[in-house]
Amino acid sequence: MHQIDVMSFLLLFVLGMVLGSFFNVIGLRVPKGQSIVAPRSHCPYCKRTLATIELIPVLSYVWQRGRCRNCRQKISPLYPFVELAVGSGFSIMLLVFGWNMELLVALALVSLFSIIFVSDLVYMIIPDRIILFFAILFVLFRATLAPLNPWWDAWAGAVVGYILLFIVYLIYPNGIGGGDVKLFTVLGFVLGWKLTLVAIMLSSLFGAIGGGVGMMLGRIKRREPIPFGPFIILGSLTAYLYGDALIQWYVRWL
Ligand SMILES: [Zn+2]
Repeated sequence: MHQIDVMSFLLLFVLGMVLGSFFNVIGLRVPKGQSIVAPRSHCPYCKRTLATIELIPVLSYVWQRGRCRNCRQKISPLYPFVELAVGSGFSIMLLVFGWNMELLVALALVSLFSIIFVSDLVYMIIPDRIILFFAILFVLFRATLAPLNPWWDAWAGAVVGYILLFIVYLIYPNGIGGGDVKLFTVLGFVLGWKLTLVAIMLSSLFGAIGGGVGMMLGRIKRREPIPFGPFIILGSLTAYLYGDALIQWYVRWL
């Protein structure tokens, strides 16, 4: 943990919430091939364009008690949830990495995850254009500002992520989609090969637990596809932040 002043922490929290509100729009519109700038945000029921005051992240949801001001239809809690998650994610990454070049990678990772969380949950799609955009960003970061040590570890991670997920895809084509294979190729680039292995193991573990709990609660039927994205996010973030510690613990335990 780094010593961070309160102002920096709040700055990243607010920045994260504002961007989170934009990531909601990206995650909902890109899979449908819609523009992310026009038209302006509107109520999905009465189509009324939202006033500036209704665009304030989280707070607008709270003081409108989760309903449209015009037609009183319920607003999806997904919006404030993602805004809060990105705000928290940004400020936590600042605590973990401090004002360091790796912080850029960490913030980009939180951004990527929040967008695919929305699109995977709503459409069960991880859009190619989103993956491609972040792939370019991560290649640039890892090649210049925030290289892994050794530098080729990023490329090794991408190869490991691609090959392993592709094998899983061949064995179990209904379990994961092509989007998951591409996503893990990009994540491999961020994580390096060792942490990519940890991320794949943790994502599968969390997915199995989540699927099992869902079936016990009767929310998911056997053989029914569930969005794997949220579990990849959870597994990869755990690997990114605690992977090295997990590997050390595991080696000592052997
Ligand atoms: Zn409305």
